[in-house]
Amino acid sequence: MGKKIIVAGLGHGGIAAAALIAKQGFDVTVYEKKSEGTLGYDWTDIFAPQALAVAGMKMPPEDKYEYKKDMTFFNPSFTKKLQQHVPEDKLEIKMERRDIYEHFINHALDCGVKIVYDCEVKEPIILGNRVVGIRTEQGDIYGDLIIDACGLNSPVRSNLPSYFGIDKDVTDNEKIRIYRAFYNVASEEEAEAIFKVMLFPGGIKGIGWIASEEDHTDLLIGRFEEFDMDEVERFSDFLRETNPRLGKEKIRGGQFVEIPVRQPPAIMIADGYAAIGDSAFMTVPLIGSGIANSLKAAKVLADTVAADKESIFSAETLWKYQTGYYKILGNGLAPLACMKLMLLTLTPEEIDYIFENEIINDDLITIGADFTGLGSVKIDPKDLINKAKQVCTDTELLKKIINCGVRIGKVSAACTMMPKKWNESRVKAWAKVYNYSFK
Ligand SMILES: Cc1cc2nc3c(=O)[nH]c(=O)nc-3n(C[C@H](O)[C@H](O)[C@H](O)COP(=O)(O)OP(=O)(O)OC[C@H]3O[C@@H](n4cnc5c(N)ncnc54)[C@H](O)[C@@H]3O)c2cc1C
Repeated sequence: MGKKIIVAGLGHGGIAAAALIAKQGFDVTVYEKKSEGTLGYDWTDIFAPQALAVAGMKMPPEDKYEYKKDMTFFNPSFTKKLQQHVPEDKLEIKMERRDIYEHFINHALDCGVKIVYDCEVKEPIILGNRVVGIRTEQGDIYGDLIIDACGLNSPVRSNLPSYFGIDKDVTDNEKIRIYRAFYNVASEEEAEAIFKVMLFPGGIKGIGWIASEEDHTDLLIGRFEEFDMDEVERFSDFLRETNPRLGKEKIRGGQFVEIPVRQPPAIMIADGYAAIGDSAFMTVPLIGSGIANSLKAAKVLADTVAADKESIFSAETLWKYQTGYYKILGNGLAPLACMKLMLLTLTPEEIDYIFENEIINDDLITIGADFTGLGSVKIDPKDLINKAKQVCTDTELLKKIINCGVRIGKVSAACTMMPKKWNESRVKAWAKVYNYSFK
């Protein structure tokens, strides 16, 4: 076959796509900046195990995972909670991130993928309108298709020419900064909820979670603004007042990281280029989970590669990847991005009102926080607006909810108008409409 596929960065979707494409007989090499055995963070992740089978992977050994417990969502004043109720057949699994990586990497190596560690990718190499390779600290490397799995701040995506129409950077409201660490258990007192997720706790613009495990307490603080260790100390002390199990001794983790929480990009492919995973903002906008989505996207990308019989890997042939991705995930993620946008306009008092007056309920919270990347139920903007009209006496808040419903309607309509086939000017015109629908 002789065609060379380059994967920039060992992101989850990148590894999965690499494995599926190598299995088709292509020469696939991943270039990763970190050293072998150092990938991931020192904590656990949650994802839908069904996505493994989609990407042709086995389940991990049983002693490597457990099933995730349902989350309980709290309003800013902690006066009302909403309970997720994920059906048993859709329960996600919780696994150490390093074990996830090991499982994925071993699978990819078995499929014939080559991995080059300690190789930082600097930028794409462009020839005419095509991405033809990557510039790395070990020199220039050329390939027939460059799969960008370098994550949120990918130097490949952010150095593409503007005329490709691919979003290069994300704005402050499109990513959430996270601090996460495991602390000791300071009290045997039973937790109010095993997996407690707090919206705008203490009036801050962001989320927090405290998951009470037997031998540790998992703390996550997410903000739409910069914060530092002093703020982490202050805020965790505030949380300790109502969460006595949260100890002061840090056992694991303790890093700051960023996650994209925004709509899927209007364009995620170009001649010789396809983005996957966080590089293509595939996370669920309300919760930031992206592993399962990346695995499902890997399957769509591999199928697109297989369907491209001449291995042309042009925007025209790769467009099938984008339309396929939107069909299974993007069309459902885009409305959730509208919900996130509305959330950012709300005051803590308005979120209290929404919880207390059951404008959102257990069902909606279950869909919004669905790690599987959408269940069978979809958000109906008309339902949302009608419900808000029935119970909401606060006109300012009602306006925001109606705007959100209207935006969901526009965004969904824009998604259905995506061109079925690649035509540069038509796609770019559509991209304008799609992007505008989020404004
Ligand atoms: C704190 C936190 C908690 C999360 N929890 C969950 C969870 O519970 N469930 C879930 O589904 N998702 C979770 N996510 C999101 C999830 O990690 C990502 O959505 C998913 O891993 C897909 O991202 P990615 O693999 O494409 O990118 P990344 O994880 O960012 O991986 C990118 C890879 O590319 C490499 N790289 C970057 N730049 C270069 C370069 N210049 N040259 C070479 N290599 C490079 C990086 O080293 C890395 O290996 C979480 C994310 C964070 C930060």
